[in-house]
Amino acid sequence: MILTGAFIVGVASGALINFVIWTFRAHDRPQDVPESKDKAWFANDVPECTKCGTALKRRQTSGVIALVSGMHRCAKCGRPLFVPKLLIEVICGAVWLASVYILGATLSALTVAAYGTLLLGIAIADFRSWLIPHEFTWIGIILSLGLSLSRGITGLINAALGTLVGPAIFFVVAWLVAKLKRISVSEALGGGDYWLIAMIGGFVGWKMVPVAIVLSAVTGLVIFLPWVIRATLRHTESPKIPFGVFLALGGAATLLVGERLVSWYGHWALRQ
Ligand SMILES: [Zn+2]
Repeated sequence: MILTGAFIVGVASGALINFVIWTFRAHDRPQDVPESKDKAWFANDVPECTKCGTALKRRQTSGVIALVSGMHRCAKCGRPLFVPKLLIEVICGAVWLASVYILGATLSALTVAAYGTLLLGIAIADFRSWLIPHEFTWIGIILSLGLSLSRGITGLINAALGTLVGPAIFFVVAWLVAKLKRISVSEALGGGDYWLIAMIGGFVGWKMVPVAIVLSAVTGLVIFLPWVIRATLRHTESPKIPFGVFLALGGAATLLVGERLVSWYGHWALRQ
């Protein structure tokens, strides 16, 4: 019964992230993203059909709601619109189900499930539109701080420090990159990335922030390297993938294996 409930809440949370993701246009490159997007606080665009560009109803941004209301095809071109959206909702349902199954009906389960949902939304939005919507990161930061209270005042301090450490590290890195490449600090790293690492820090705690950053970089390298090698061999341009996608992956990995990784490294380093 509780598990069914968790799945339904998960699907609903998936519908909420769909509501945000699909209001942004898909972009190929950062240059395509108009600057006004970075400054807009919340999504206020009208969702569009990916094929013909016809404006869609809000309810068509959710797979389940579109299916139930019989609006799962574009009214103009007839393209079925629900498949990726439904997939996202089912994945979110599975994440919530797994969290409650493993951790029970606890605040920890809620924390893990909400964190996973937000990271999924961020990864898809950044991959598809080169944007990290404030809807996700700001709500995530507030949630992480609120839920950290379940671990008392030390939990809150840990989370609050977590939201600060990441952006501070990022600023130093962006400043160094900007110096080296002779570009401005804001060009070196997008504003959304600061909010994202702040959110991740809020959820995993300040000690785990460096782990999250290292895991993101490693994930990025592993996924990216074959493409770079291929592009170099073929003398073509290597594909650009937004950093937020790797940050989200690294942030998720940190929650799942971060503690174990650190203790394993600690044992290993002591034995040397
Ligand atoms: Zn259409």
